[in-house]
Amino acid sequence: MFMEHLALTYKCHSSIGNSLDLKEMLNEVLSTFIEETNALNGYFFLLDDESKLYKYIEFKEDETFDAYDYFEYIDLFNLKDKKGSESEEVLILPLKKGIFFLIYEKDGFDFDFIGSMFQDLIVKLNISIDACLGVQILKKRNSTLDHLASELKKQKKELIESDKYKSNFLANMSHELKTPLNSVIVISSIMAKNKKNKLDEEQVKNMKIINNCGNDLLVLINDILDISKIEAGEISINLSKININLLLTDLIEEMKPLSTQRGLELSFHPLEVEVNLLSDAVRIKQIIKNLLSNAIKFTDKGTVDVTLEENANDITIKVIDEGIGISQDKLDNIFERFKQADGSTTRKYGGTGLGLAISKELSSLLGGDIKAFSKVDEGSTFELILPKKTNIQNVSDDTVRISSKSSEDIEIEEIVLFDMDDVNLDEEAAKTESRVLVINNDYAQFFSIAIALKKENIFLDYKDSIPDAKKVLENDSFDMVVVDKDNSRASVDEFSSFCDEKEIKIIVLSKEENENKNYLKTDLVNEQLFGKVLEYLGR
Ligand code: ADP
Repeated sequence: MFMEHLALTYKCHSSIGNSLDLKEMLNEVLSTFIEETNALNGYFFLLDDESKLYKYIEFKEDETFDAYDYFEYIDLFNLKDKKGSESEEVLILPLKKGIFFLIYEKDGFDFDFIGSMFQDLIVKLNISIDACLGVQILKKRNSTLDHLASELKKQKKELIESDKYKSNFLANMSHELKTPLNSVIVISSIMAKNKKNKLDEEQVKNMKIINNCGNDLLVLINDILDISKIEAGEISINLSKININLLLTDLIEEMKPLSTQRGLELSFHPLEVEVNLLSDAVRIKQIIKNLLSNAIKFTDKGTVDVTLEENANDITIKVIDEGIGISQDKLDNIFERFKQADGSTTRKYGGTGLGLAISKELSSLLGGDIKAFSKVDEGSTFELILPKKTNIQNVSDDTVRISSKSSEDIEIEEIVLFDMDDVNLDEEAAKTESRVLVINNDYAQFFSIAIALKKENIFLDYKDSIPDAKKVLENDSFDMVVVDKDNSRASVDEFSSFCDEKEIKIIVLSKEENENKNYLKTDLVNEQLFGKVLEYLGR
């Protein structure tokens, strides 16, 4: 008997906790209990926090069994007569999170022994049920985490997409803004020179203000464009051999007028030996120009110094000033976008807070870094560290293009960089080798090309509409006309035949694509019109 009891206890014990899946575990326990103790049937009900019972598993289906019939006894280990049956009784085994009900034939089992064995198993059963529930909660959390992770992934993708839209939008916007802005800058600069003395002193002053504001706006647009290009990984760096002493000598000369204007001395300490870098000259100039403009802007008296130092694998360019300085707490995030040392900076000195952020990003693109040291009221030192050889691996983003010549360099859009004294806009003075009539009521759209053509000594005249142009062409001789189909207020086809009759060459600008070789898409005006006009004129 003792051995039988021992075997029974062992089997029931062993059936507990073999799985971390609650249903699987309880199924094994219930069927073992029933089979080993000769029970007729059995159930496990879960008990929730509000003392409600839920049938979780049953050994054999039995519609007549209702756990609530025994509800008043479920707090304690009990043996009760089965409701509606003379011959059966119900053993109630309460646990922390539920209750086992086992149905036995009356007097068909050794209650003393089985009862005490079950009570001994209660602790192990509670622990196993807790473990299964814990795993269930973890699984649920994991699936929530999985869901969250996939949501995050989706959002990241959407963010990257929207970032692309933002960058495209910024690039397009800046382009759209720069074209008319260039016209404003060029026209105001010409007018401010007042060569024909048509303007009075006040008007010249106003023209200068317009010109300055235009230039400020252009700097801002270029900064925003740079930042968006950096974000989109679309900045290209053009590596070439650079004599760093020479590059900086030129730059210092360029900046001298600004420092003189502010009453500051600008000194330069080049390297004693010539050092050539493999790097991007345009970007190095952009960074140092920004550091120097800041040094000059934030220094009221004294010297701004540029010192070069050579190390084994890199060089350091130090821009040192004796200006207002930056407090330590502000120094920590001075390279973040739109951060200015203090709110009053914008009011007093202007600026956008983008220059240093761009410089930092560019320096790391070149495989280098920028460091800032400063003491309030004593001055600041900004150090640009550049590797002697910019390694392509330094460029973290693989979308960055490395090219030997950037097509951006020759964009006519950058017309503001032309030396205006070279440009002869005086119509009388133009040597009229070739004569071109432009028909376009959007004057600004054509302005940048006009400057380039005038530099080629081509005489240009403008008309707003085709009817006006026809009047001019009846009396005057022109080599060619450039007509904007969408801005000329009449049918181009008829005008085209008119030009053919008069043997005048014609280029038609149109928003839509057209196979005809005389047509050029309006989008391509800046890139192609200049060349096409020269080609038609046989230059
Ligand atoms: P911006 O000059 O257009 O405001 P920057 O990013 O170039 O933007 O500079 C951010 C801020 O860092 C400036 O507004 C200024 O407060 C501080 N700063 C930069 N250079 C100097 C300097 N040489 N001396 C003092 N403050 C400086």
